[in-house]
This record gives sequence, C-alpha cells and structure tokens, in this order.
Amino acid sequence: MHSLNLTHDPQIKSWLATANRPDGNFPLQNLPFAVFRRAQSHEAFRGGVAIGDQVIDLAAVAALVARDSMSSFSADAIVALEAGRLQTLNQLMQLGPRFWSALRLALFEGFRTGSSLQSQLERCLIPQAGVEFTVPAQIGNYTDFYASIYHATAVGRLFRPDEPLLPNYHWLPIGYHGRASSIGISGQSFHRPTGQIKISGESAPVLKPSARLDYELELGVFVGTGNPLGARISIREAESQVFGLCLLNDWSARDIQAWEYQPLGPFLAKNFATTISPWIVTLEALAPFRSPCTRPDGPPLLDYLDSLSNRQSGSIDIHLETLIRSSSMREANVPAYRLASTSFRHSYWTIAQLVAHHTINGCNLQPGDLLGTGTQSGPTPAEAGSLLELSQGGKQSFAISPTEQRTFLEDGDVVIMRGWCESPSATRIGFGEVIGQVLPAMKL
Ligand code: CA
Repeated sequence: MHSLNLTHDPQIKSWLATANRPDGNFPLQNLPFAVFRRAQSHEAFRGGVAIGDQVIDLAAVAALVARDSMSSFSADAIVALEAGRLQTLNQLMQLGPRFWSALRLALFEGFRTGSSLQSQLERCLIPQAGVEFTVPAQIGNYTDFYASIYHATAVGRLFRPDEPLLPNYHWLPIGYHGRASSIGISGQSFHRPTGQIKISGESAPVLKPSARLDYELELGVFVGTGNPLGARISIREAESQVFGLCLLNDWSARDIQAWEYQPLGPFLAKNFATTISPWIVTLEALAPFRSPCTRPDGPPLLDYLDSLSNRQSGSIDIHLETLIRSSSMREANVPAYRLASTSFRHSYWTIAQLVAHHTINGCNLQPGDLLGTGTQSGPTPAEAGSLLELSQGGKQSFAISPTEQRTFLEDGDVVIMRGWCESPSATRIGFGEVIGQVLPAMKL
C-alpha cells in the first residue's frame, strides 16, 4: 500500500494553469496513463499521461530525454518512459511499482511550478480535445467479480426473495472469466444483442433482440507484474501487483442472462461489449483516498483474505455516478440525466482480496489482465449501479426527462459513467468518463 509522498502534496501546483483548477480531473497529483494519438491521424498509438486539459506525449518526452540529459529523470524513470512510449502499456505494467513511481515523480517534478524543464516539456503536450484513445493494454484475460454486497443482495432478492445472498457470498469474492476481445474504449457503440430469450409461461425460447438491455457501473483493475503459473499473490503483496484503475461498463442483456446463466454463469448476455475509460489512475495517485474495509456482517475471513492493512485501508473512496442521454434528449439539447451515484468504498471485497483470491489456486495473472469489480451499488436504492435495480427488475419505470421513461435501455441511448476522489486534505483527482451507445439490433 502506498504511503503519502511529495507527489500527493496539495500545496504544489503546476506551471500548466488548467492542471490547477479545483474541480479538474487531472492535476499534478493524478498523472493517469492512456494510449492515444492525434484524432483522425495515422500516427502510431503511444502512451500518454493526462495533465490539466493536455496529454503528455510519452514518446516525445522519451525523445527529449534521449537527446538532452534531464536530471529529474532517474534511471528507473527512463526505463519506465521507454516502456510507456509503446503502443500498449503492457511492458510498463510489467515493470512494477518501483518504476511506475519513478516515472510519476519525474513527471511531477517536470510539470511543477518552477521546473527548469518547462520550455522543453511544453513541446510534449497535445490538447486532450484533439486526441483519440484506444484500449491501453493488450488484455489477455478479463475476469469479472461481484464484489458489492448491496448489488448482490438487490439482484438476489429479485430472483430469490427468501434467500437473496447465497451462502458462499460472505466467504469468497464471486467471479467468472469474461471475454477480452469485445472490450472497447470509451466512445464504443454496439448493436443491441440478439439471443435466446424465454418468456415466462412459454414452453420454448425464441431468438430475438434483447428487450432488457442494461449497464453495470464497475471499476476495472489493470494487473501489473503478475505471478508465474503455480505461484500465489498474498494479500499483503496484492496491491503491488496492480497497475491502476479505470471505469468499466459491463453491458448486460438481462433476458438473455436469465435463460442461459444456470448452471455455468454468464455467457452471451455479457460478452458482446464491455467499455472502459481511457485513463488508468494508479494506486499511488489514489493513496490519499483510502478508507477502512468495513464488513457489516458475515463470518470471520479465512487468513488468505485478511490482513491488517486491508482492514485499515483496503477500500478506496471513489465517487461514481451514471448518467443517461437518449436520442431525443440530444435532439432537444436536454442535458444527461443522473441515474444514480455511489462510492467504491462500499464494496464488500477489496482489490487486494480479489487478487489474492484469484491466485490462491496458482492461477497466473499477467501484465495487462483486467479484473472488473462487479457492479458497484451503495446501501440505498438511489445508489444502485444498474437499471435492473433502479427499475426493480423491470417492474417500475421512471422518468429520465419530462417526456421519457425507462426501465431498460432503448436504441440510441448513451450511458455516461464518471469517477472522482475528493478529500479535505488532498487535491481532487478524477477518472474522466466512460461513454457508450446502444445501436439498433442487427437484422436476423
Ligand atoms: Ca458485471
């Protein structure tokens, strides 16, 4: 777990004015990573770091450091920079926290007020408004968990009113192996999935477009160095294996899911699209926003899922919100409607527990693997992370504008998720947004 250091000092400002806005996502204290290029260009994608309204082009910084020796770039920072300039961040992720921290510190020093490198680094900036992003790593494997007890209880109640939580929930983080090939970057659009749907009371299923299409508000966890097959990652080492977090929308077709999920779990209801935000916020940047892991109930944990530091500060207070904007809202210039908001601090299972559990049997995590936390819902109904919960299983529609109601998503709907961290003693940092759009189903 990261302790606070110079790079978290809220007193230190940047020479870049837009990095100092109190409501901004990307101050000097954040420095998240993405893979980008100039929009509509044929440039190679390469690593970048957000600051204010700009992207620090890591390939340009690497070229600069190679040409002029720059004293604030340590040997470790240069190794990290050489990995960060590539078309995917896998190599940077593989290096480990010593190198990630060294690059963070070098960029912090270079962009802070009074840096002697200002005039050189100014030439390495590209406005965020003029770039496009791609999935930041080659994601070999994607695992999705079910870490919010409030989500698990609300969904369980719809299907099993007498026993909403199955007995294993308090003992282990429930998860399944998902599909990496359909993970897309913010801006992704996809056709409403078609699948087998069995209407209650009918004797046979029919093939048709999903009528109960939903989103799931999640965080994505990018694995760093990982572990060899047959080895384990202990809960104490787990966070040093995590490169950082992004926002994740696990699009879900509830009617396809309801028919197919037993006995092996989700399949075609989930694997048609998963959308992630472009920026990966490192655990080091999130250090000022840690909170105790509170387990309101349940049995004592097995040792491999428990540690003092996990109890004291295993959770992270990340504010999360979901908004919707329909086609007609866009045409009428009506702003997006906020569906719900919550915080990741309510998660029953922490990131360290997800990693420790995933590897307890010797399963190897690899650099760039992605773990979804599962839908994040808070303790009250207004903090629900899916429409399934907000519409009480589709039974209760609600207004999203003066003229429109929703239970599930309609064609043309745009779903927007945002995340940010605030604390009186730290500089606010943000994740930005993940945006995705539902297109009509393809013809059969
Ligand atoms: Ca999910």
